[in-house]
This record gives sequence, structure tokens and C-alpha cells, in this order.
Amino acid sequence: MSAHERPPPRGDNSSLPTEKELRRKTENGSERYEDHVPALERLEERVSAAREQTESRGETFYPGPSRTHLAAFPPRERWDHWVELDSKAWPDRKERQYMLVPTTCFNCESACGLLAYVDRDTLEVRKFEGNPEHPGSRGRNCAKGPATLNQVEDPDRVLYPLKRAGERGEGKWVRVSWEEVLDDISLRIRTALEEGRNREIMYHVGRPGEDGFTERLIAAWGVDGHNSHTNICSSAARAGYQFWLGMDRPSPDHAHADVILLISSHLEAGHYFNPHAQRVMEGVKKGAKLIVFDTRLSNTATHADHWLPTQPGSEAAVLLAIANHLIQSDSYDSEFVRRWFNWEQYLSAEKPELPRSFEAFETVLKELYAECTFEWAEEESGVDAEQLREVAELVATAGSKLSTHNWRSAASGNEGGWQVARALFFLNALTGSVATPGGTYPSAWHKFVPKPIRLPRHPEHWNDLTWPEEYPLTMYEVSFLLPHLLKEGRGKLDVYFTRVYNPVWTNPDGFTWIEALTDEDKIGLHVALTPTWNESAYFADYVLPMGHGPERHDVHSYETHDGQWIGFRQPVLRTARQRLGEQVADTRHTNPGEVWEENEFWLELSWRIDPDGSLGIRPFVESETNPGERMTVDEYYEWMFDNSIPGLPETASEHGLTPIEYMRKFGAFEVDRDIGQVYETEVGEEELDDVAEDEFGRVYTRTPKPSLPNLAPMAAPDSDDEGRRPVGVRMDEKILKGFPTPSGKLEFYSPTLVRWGWPEYALPTYIRSHVHPKVMDPDQMCLISTFRLPVQIHTRSANSKWLDEIAHTNPLWLNTRDAERMGLKNGDLVRVETEVGYFVVKAWVTEGIKPGVVACSHHMGRWKLSDGLVHGSEVGVGERAEQMGQRQLMATVGIDHKKDQWKLRRKRGASAYETDDPDTSRIWWTDVGVHQNLTFPVHPDPISGMHCWHQAVRVKKASSRDRYGDIYVDTEKSHEVYRSWLRKSRGAVDHSPDGTRRPHWLIRPLKPTDDAYKLPSQS
Ligand code: SF4
Repeated sequence: MSAHERPPPRGDNSSLPTEKELRRKTENGSERYEDHVPALERLEERVSAAREQTESRGETFYPGPSRTHLAAFPPRERWDHWVELDSKAWPDRKERQYMLVPTTCFNCESACGLLAYVDRDTLEVRKFEGNPEHPGSRGRNCAKGPATLNQVEDPDRVLYPLKRAGERGEGKWVRVSWEEVLDDISLRIRTALEEGRNREIMYHVGRPGEDGFTERLIAAWGVDGHNSHTNICSSAARAGYQFWLGMDRPSPDHAHADVILLISSHLEAGHYFNPHAQRVMEGVKKGAKLIVFDTRLSNTATHADHWLPTQPGSEAAVLLAIANHLIQSDSYDSEFVRRWFNWEQYLSAEKPELPRSFEAFETVLKELYAECTFEWAEEESGVDAEQLREVAELVATAGSKLSTHNWRSAASGNEGGWQVARALFFLNALTGSVATPGGTYPSAWHKFVPKPIRLPRHPEHWNDLTWPEEYPLTMYEVSFLLPHLLKEGRGKLDVYFTRVYNPVWTNPDGFTWIEALTDEDKIGLHVALTPTWNESAYFADYVLPMGHGPERHDVHSYETHDGQWIGFRQPVLRTARQRLGEQVADTRHTNPGEVWEENEFWLELSWRIDPDGSLGIRPFVESETNPGERMTVDEYYEWMFDNSIPGLPETASEHGLTPIEYMRKFGAFEVDRDIGQVYETEVGEEELDDVAEDEFGRVYTRTPKPSLPNLAPMAAPDSDDEGRRPVGVRMDEKILKGFPTPSGKLEFYSPTLVRWGWPEYALPTYIRSHVHPKVMDPDQMCLISTFRLPVQIHTRSANSKWLDEIAHTNPLWLNTRDAERMGLKNGDLVRVETEVGYFVVKAWVTEGIKPGVVACSHHMGRWKLSDGLVHGSEVGVGERAEQMGQRQLMATVGIDHKKDQWKLRRKRGASAYETDDPDTSRIWWTDVGVHQNLTFPVHPDPISGMHCWHQAVRVKKASSRDRYGDIYVDTEKSHEVYRSWLRKSRGAVDHSPDGTRRPHWLIRPLKPTDDAYKLPSQS
């Protein structure tokens, strides 16, 4: 507790049970929660009294997660000068004087608020805690938030720009200046652009952590060069939602739901993890029932009322059986279905012989799903039909309060996984729980992406290395196929940026990536922008040190609940110094070493690419207030906060602040709340001019699209034949806004899938996975490789010492029965054979996994190729350095290869070492896990483009020659597997209905011009 903070008097309410006690009583079933409502109301009274008392002192009241004042946060009025006792000085009472500076966490996609506790005496950050002013995270963080401090203080981090001094991958570097880096790269890019080689520039991002700054800037270069990690992450689920809604993510209102259905381990590691997890628990506390689909007994499954350990890839079958129950028992919201499904389009196209009436559609609907019985779903999923019936009956009780979520998990693991998300949203669509309190919203209505000072031009090129013709419906770039496309000679890259991205380690088929990254004919210059050492940076030409969360600027907004907010990430020491009156123009002056923030780097690089403005890039980065000068980061965000965020200038002014001062002080702003059913909004008269309407009620207008500041990603349905834009949909006598789909309705039936060659999947349906037992050989098992450890950060936590101590290995989950059959016990070495190689790992025998399925977490198995000792921070500019990597969670390995045969063997695990931080000498673990992804070939889903992560494997007792961590891969075989999946695709050349490469209405980052959309034969 701080010296200034005093608990409020408990008064005569102190005899009340605490909420924790109430919860314990009701959870063990001995008492009903409802019986405690009066007591809870008295608790509310006590909280109100504490609120009054705090506010009477002129301070902000934060009730905190436990709803008692003891858990309160520092009142924001005192953030400039906050005093706490130094815990390390105990038992002495030593006061520490702090300035609290907000930023946002960069350690997953949730961007929770953080408060940096900047020591006013030393101007060092001493800790990070939650920011109670952040509407998404509400002051709470997971373990990875506070561990940001470990990343900042990492003794092995990259602090200075390094340039390769030997062969790629040899580990020899020379420290260089930022000037040299900028001159070299900018000249190279300028030359490529002048020679029309725009397709040879590519920016490949792992964790974006921002809303479009860099992709807009790359587009301003006239380059279709954005590449993402989305197709190894979430493309499948996005496709499932996109075809329904025209928006590619769900936004469940868990806190107000009656039934919460999760397809993933949301409470520990799911999407928007902490913001969602706290709202799931809020819903459960209010009495919501929790249903969890998870093949593993995850921590989330342990909290469920109903845990369904489905066979991987069978989830859509179970969901369709639940849908069928709703349909056959007339438990669906038929009025909602009548109004919002595009059933007329379906009947017209597929059942022209029937009357176009809703009654006819309801009859057909019953027939369509009649075969999806619980017994059929049991056969596919291995979950008892009676349990499925119980769950279906529960879903039927939810009405409009059904919150659901699928993001990675089953959608990302399986061929056809996109239909898992489509079948899941079918339940929301049937129950009418679409954008209702306690229901599930589309993402874009809960996300606010502010318009920047300048929007870029549309690139005039189409990049076939990211959007090949074989995958016209892919949700995002087929990024993980890049080395195979290069291998086939489909193009080459002159400048390839990897940014907070580690394809060698993160992607499947890492050795094929190494083959591409070491071939200078395929990749001319590889620039790794990274805050930490990683396996791919080892194969770079430049390794450039970028900032962690508290060392950079970004804005972002995510769909965490029924509201919209903006979070502002900022370099906290820069802001702290500015508050003390210093002028700081460049984050390199306040960050460790020469760590630079990316915004400043990209602005400066763009400025240098086009010094005379002849390439049209310079105006994009030129200052508006000081023409002739490069725009500063302050100007960029000042403009955005002044002009693009409704309500921010007024709120800031109430605090006597400018908008940017407000964001620097509080770190987040709530733009809106209680968004509701946007699709039911009536279109205003002012938007209706010379309207036209198609036979299904889609309404088009001639009024131009309003220039809204919110750039949240939504599909853009095509205009009608006479150039009118779609504006709404006729519903009874009104024109309503509807959904951004071609029909304006929820597309139960997808004409897009029909027109582009996939008529069999036009409705929510079940696609049997490539790892279903009926598809695999009898001696094969399904390997689940996608589950996350809640305390690791993909490839950026190797030196997060607090996290490493909690989790540092990834044994293979193996069911007791399978272990007995194979004669294995806990800790025994097993060889896991994939289609193209194998890895050797330890077995963890458990009842927590379904028989016939094994699981191995990612995040683990990090490696480095040497124990080099001379770090970039210890040498001057121009002097030689050696690559060192990170020592707390990376094994030192040797890699050998003869042509296509690659072997990796570990030499040493982690061990204690001496630095200024005494904790590095206390490292007690040596095991850092096994890098399984190296042994996976690519599996591009033919529709969504998603890499289908699950593997059909053979698990064997290791031989006497096998050693822990051994890896073997044949990359020629992995190319064959790539070719075999490629054959499943139905490409635009043969299936495009209109000579374009992709349906124009589908979301695509920074769409190229209409001409670029045309297939080469049409241009
Ligand atoms: S959930 Fe955890 S890692 Fe993700 S942003 Fe929040 S605090 Fe950071």
C-alpha cells in the first residue's frame, strides 16, 4: 500500500461476507448465488460509501477487481507525483517518488493499459502496473504486462544497429551508425522504385501492435508490399466471419451473457486475452453458463460448466448439431432469421422451383440440417451425444444473450477450419444474438481506427508473392508460402524487412525459410527490425534495434466489449522528460543504447528515399506546419488527436489539456459505449439520392460515402452497374444500414463462394479435417501444436526472466492409455514423426488430453547458433561484434545440412551467467523446450489460405541414437507437400467470374487500384 493510500473505514458493513467468500459458497453448489443478492447489494453500498469518501477528497475512485478500496489504483490526480514505500528496503520505511506515465502493453494483441512507475530521482522505470483509465483492460494485466520491465532491462538485447560482416548466418557483425543504415537502405529502395521493381520491396510484420501506420507508409511508396503473419494466426476464423458479416472478427459481450461458448482456452491465452478473460469471469459471476470446446483440459476447460473435448477438427460438426437442434425444435428466433438472413437469394439461386416465401425457406432449413444429429456429431467428435444434447438445450435457453468466440484454435488447426467459425456464428445468427446485450457483435463496430493526417495512394501493382492467383479468397497474404514461391522462381525480393517477426522460428518449415534467407539471388537485402535477438535476425544483413512497448508510439483500438476506445502507446521516458520541461525530439535520446522507435525510423527512411519529391513519397511525410521539413511524430499524433477522434478535444479541454496532452497523461480514451445493433439503424434521408434497389432489397445511392474518421476494417461491397454505392437494405418499409456484405444481410448463403468455384461450401457446413481419425492412417495421431502458454510472448520473451522461471519447456501431452500402449512414462524421450521429418521431445503422461491426440505448446524451443561473446553494445561504430542471442531461454545448437537434409542438435541448454543483474546468476533451469515447427510442412487451406497447423504424426519411443531436442527435416519433401496442397486450390485464372484476381468487396489491406485487380490476361 502506498504511503498516501489509506483504506476507507469498514464501518458497520465489516461483518458482511466478502465477495470471495460468497463466490466460494455458491461455486461449490451448497448455496444459490441468488440468495446472496441482498448481501451483494450491501456490499455495493459499502463501495458507494468508499467512492463518496474518495471523491470528497477530490480524487478518482477506482473500485478495483475485488470491488473493495484496498485494491484501488493511484488516483490519476496524483500521477505526476506519487509516493510509495520501497518494498526492497523493508523493514526500513524508505519512500520512493514516482511519476506515473501511461503506455500500452505490446506483449500480445490486446494492448492493455500499463502505467510506468518512473523514479523521479533516477528517471528509470522501476515497475509497470495496470492503467485503470484504459477502458479495455480496466487496470488489469496478465503476467506478461509487468514483465515488460524484463524486456526493457534484458542484458542481452540488441541496442545498436548491426551489419553483417561475413556470410549470412555466420554470426559476424559490425556495429554501424543509423546514418549509414538509412543511406544504404533508402538508396536501394529508391533505385528499385526508379527501375519499376516495386514488387521487390516487402515489409513482413509479425506483431503489428498498431493500427496501420506502417502499412499506409509502405503503400505511400507505391508498393503492394505489406505482408503479415495473419495466415499462420487467424485467417481461417476471419474467413468464417467475413462470409457471414463482411467484418472479419467477433466481439462478444461476455459480461452480460447468459451462455458463453468458447472455442479456445480464452481464460488463459485466447484472443484479447485479459480484457476478455475478465469479462468472461464477470459474466460467470453473474450466473452465465460457460461452455468450452477444447481437446485439452486447459485451465479454461477446468472452469467450464460444460467441457467438450472434441476430436480436433470436428467442432463444426458439433456446432451444426446444436444448430440443427435449434432448428428442429423451433428454438431459433425466426423473426430475426426472416429479417436478416439472405434466404431470398438462397431460394432464388438454389431452389427456384419453390415459392420465394419465408415459410418455404423454413421448411428447407429443416431439411438442410436434418442429418446433423447428436449421434452423427458424436461419431465425428467423440463426445457423447447426451452431453451434446444437454449443451444444445442450454444454448437454446440463451436467446439473444449468447456470447461466442473462436479465433485461432480449431479454426487455425484444421483444413476447412474456417467453417468452424462460420458454424459457430450460425448459432448467434439463429438465436438473434447479433449485436445484442450479452450477444456477439461484429468487430468493426467495436473498434475505432482514427484517420491519419494523410492517406496513401492505392498501389498500382499486385504482388503475386503475397496474393498468388491460386488463393483468390485468402483472407490475408499467404505469407508462410513465401520461400516456396521464391523457390519456384515466381519473383525475388530486393529489400525484405522483417519487423517483430521471426519466420524461421514461428512459421512452419523453418529450414526452407533458412534456404531462402541465405540465398542472395532470392533476397537481396534482409533487414530485421527487432527489439530482441531471434532466429531469423541471424540470417539478416542488418539487425536494427526497435523499441519495446514503453519505447515507441502507436495507437490502437480493439474489440474488447460493447464500446470503442483508443489506446496510446508512448515512449515513457521521453514523456517523463518532457513533463520535466526537456525538449526531446527523438526517442533514441531516451531509449536504451540507440534503440529507435519505428514511427521515426519509417518517417526518416521515407524522407530519404524521395529527397526531391519526384517519386511522390515526400508529400506523404512532409510537415504541414513546417513545409519543407519532415513531419515529426508529435505532429502526426497531434493532428490525429485534434481531428479524428470524436469527443476527445472536448474531454481534453475539460481537463485544461490539449488532445495530445490528454493522451500523454491518461493513455487511453473511450470514444463510445453501448454501440448496439448498428444494422438496425435507419439510413438518413441525406444519404439517399437517386436510389436504386435490387430484387433482394439491396439499396444503392448516388451520395458520396461520408468521410468518417473511423477506418476500422470492413468489407466494401461493390457498386451497382450504374455506379451507385450500396447504402442499406430495405426491411419492411424502412431502409436500414444492414451489414457490409454484397446483399446487406447476414449471408447464410454466400454467392461469393458459389461464383468463385466453391458452391459446395456456400452454406455453413462441415469439412472433415486433414487430421480426422477417418482420414489419417491407423498408426497416426493428431498433434495439436497451436496452444499457447499464457506466460510467454511468441519470440519476444526469451529474456523475460520472471516469465521464463514460470514456464520454460514444452513436453508432449500424451494420454495415459496411449502411454501404456507405447510403454512410455513421464519424462521418457519420444520421437514425433511428421510428413517431412521428426523432433525428439519428452513425454508428459496425463489424463488431460484425449486418447489418440498429442499436444505440444508453442513459444518453446528457442535456439541460437553460437555463444558469441562480443556484444554490439560493447564495441564502437565500425568494430566487429559477434552474435550472441539471448541466454535465458535459448539453447545453443548446431545445424548441419547436406542439400535438402537438415539436422539440428542441441549443444547446451540455458545456464546461469554473470551480469549486472544478480538474477542471471540464479537461473536454475537448463531445459528450454523443443522447436517443433521446424518439422511441419506448409498446409495452406484452399479457401481461407490459413496454414492448417495440426499434424498427422507417428509417435514412437525414441531410439538410443536420439537425443532430446534433435530435429531432422527433408526440405525437398516439404516442397512436395506444398505442391500437393497447392493442387487443392481453385485459382482465379480458372474460376474468377469476372477476370479479376479476387472478389473486390473482400477486406484486403490497402487495396491496389482496380486495374491491378485484373488478371494479367485481362489487363
Ligand atoms: S493480455 Fe497480457 S500480454 Fe496481452 S496486452 Fe494485456 S497485459 Fe499485455
